[in-house]
Amino acid sequence: MFEKILIANRGEIALRILRAAKELGIATVAVHSTVDADAMHVKLADESVCIGPAPAKDSYLNIPALLAACEITGADAIHPGYGFLSENAKFAEILHDHDIAFIGPSPEHIRIMGDKIEAKRTARALGIPCVPGSEGGITDDEEAMRVANGIGFPVLVKAAAGGGGRGMKVARTAADLSDALTSARTEAKAAFGDDAVYLEKFLDTPRHIEIQILGDGQGNAVHIGERDCSLQRRHQKVLEETPSPALNQDERSRIGEICAAAMRKLRYSGAGTIEFLYEDGEFYFIEMNTRIQVEHPITEMISGLDLLVEQIKIASGAPLGFTQADLELRGHAIECRINAEHPATFRPSPGKILYYHPPGGVGVRVDSAVYQGYTIPPNYDSLVGKLIVYGRTRNEALMRLRRALDEFIVDGIDTTLPLFRNLVRNSDIQDGAYDIHWLEAFLANGGMDDVSS
Ligand code: ADP
Repeated sequence: MFEKILIANRGEIALRILRAAKELGIATVAVHSTVDADAMHVKLADESVCIGPAPAKDSYLNIPALLAACEITGADAIHPGYGFLSENAKFAEILHDHDIAFIGPSPEHIRIMGDKIEAKRTARALGIPCVPGSEGGITDDEEAMRVANGIGFPVLVKAAAGGGGRGMKVARTAADLSDALTSARTEAKAAFGDDAVYLEKFLDTPRHIEIQILGDGQGNAVHIGERDCSLQRRHQKVLEETPSPALNQDERSRIGEICAAAMRKLRYSGAGTIEFLYEDGEFYFIEMNTRIQVEHPITEMISGLDLLVEQIKIASGAPLGFTQADLELRGHAIECRINAEHPATFRPSPGKILYYHPPGGVGVRVDSAVYQGYTIPPNYDSLVGKLIVYGRTRNEALMRLRRALDEFIVDGIDTTLPLFRNLVRNSDIQDGAYDIHWLEAFLANGGMDDVSS
């Protein structure tokens, strides 16, 4: 087992990693930028090192500074969390060359899944069902038109290097295709420095359903149920739940087993999420994330596992300590991503938290690194924290969510708490009747008009 883990991240996930390490009796090193000196994970870690100024490229993405921090503190492993360097194959490789363990999969698997074209090719070869689309990248407009006519409009132009919903453009008809290609390429180039794009059939009313997997790289892999992340704004997840109100037990086991078998074949090591769109009883692979995800806690709530602990154990070389048959998924869990944003306009609202009162009680979990008096800096993402509730049934979880949201107070900044208070009282949400476009339509139709902008 590792002796000291350096946490190459910030915010709630840095704290989450720290908690897992502490429970395993492993010492922790926090790294932070100059504006994060007062962060909770810095206060709670055994040691801390300032690795640079506020811009992420000079601190949380600064590989030489992270290596130096390992050297100074004697850390023998790095947990990258999500975002930042978590899906950077080169970083994983460099750590390997320096005899520092990367808590995550092999650089080769990160590289394959980081290129969405390569990922789809690999998924198809592993027997995972994919969205119909171009075989590979699309370089010229004529080829794009041929492929689009083949799969049928509407089509979606997607960035090979995509992430965070960027570099994605819909072409409803042939007349829109050329513009969609140009703007997807431009956005992809600006966001990822890579303008490679590919085409996919645009699914009209799918749900976003993803499967959590764990593999030990020694031929063992399990699936730990699905998460329904269909409630999205601008392709970004807002609320997640498990199990999905849309799946039956047969569908669940079928897709889970396909994923676990694929990961065994790949000899995948670590935690991973295989993302699908689901429409009319069919699953279509869109991408795989080779890291822990923001919404992992809902899977923890229904499985009783600590996914961060599992990640650490696997990276240290331990085989999976359980089989598929040992896993029992029980109850229902829902997560709300509370952002420092205006709940109707979504304008970012960094600043000082004057009063903070998180909810508690049975079945309520808050993963957050903020505290009263803490100032949310404007330099990073706007996640204030995640409210996770658990119930024996979906109704019980919804009931708890409603009362937990009413207890939650964050004063001094705008947060998206009022959005969730409206959502949890909405009959479609209560019925589980929503797809990936539902939230945008709810907002466009005045769902948040009771909150003044
Ligand atoms: P990113 O890596 O940028 O998050 P994904 O491929 O995971 O991109 O897709 C993000 C979201 O975009 C999905 O959850 C879904 O809402 C939408 N999306 C992606 N592909 C399609 C598609 N073929 N048809 C319709 N919507 C899609």
